[in-house]
Amino acid sequence: MPKVGVLALQGDFEAHRRALESAGADAVEVRTAAGLNEVDALVIPGGESTTMLKLIEAEHLFEPLRQFGQTKPVFGTCAGAILLAREVLSPQQQSLGLVDLTVERNAYGRQIDSRIVTLHPEPASHLPGNLEAVFIRAPIIRRTGAAVTVLASYGGHPVLIEQGRHLIATFHPELTPDASIHRLFLAKVTQG
Ligand code: GLN
Repeated sequence: MPKVGVLALQGDFEAHRRALESAGADAVEVRTAAGLNEVDALVIPGGESTTMLKLIEAEHLFEPLRQFGQTKPVFGTCAGAILLAREVLSPQQQSLGLVDLTVERNAYGRQIDSRIVTLHPEPASHLPGNLEAVFIRAPIIRRTGAAVTVLASYGGHPVLIEQGRHLIATFHPELTPDASIHRLFLAKVTQG
């Protein structure tokens, strides 16, 4: 059974832990570089990316996280997606740069900043044809690099993408009962 860490400095890490367990993983909370060494893959949850970044720096986790992602799968959701992107706008902010994306924070505007929608993932993703997705003050992916595959879009923007072993959702798959996106991530972990 793959051992998957959830970065547990801030945000909704507890919901991810439960979703990973229901998808069949051994899920543990990670707060230190030593904890990172114990896991095969990592989820960076939603929350508030600026706060999470400060805590990552305070725990001296920035470089260990970057190095982890160079060989192991990382799944970032919402704030986690912002932390994994190569470039962050609105405002600019430091990021791990593991996935070749440009993201604009809080880009859906105030009136529709949180909503539940039905996604229709690309058939090649092997995800269900209808997938409920919860967006909470989500970023918009403004640019995808050549190595990025779009798995689902909403309103003309990619919202679920993969780049090799890494997975990114701008929404919160841990807040809906369907664990298929977590299972997709686990498939990446077991494929090595
Ligand atoms: N708006 C948050 C940020 O910019 C992300 C929101 C979320 O993770 N739900 O970090």
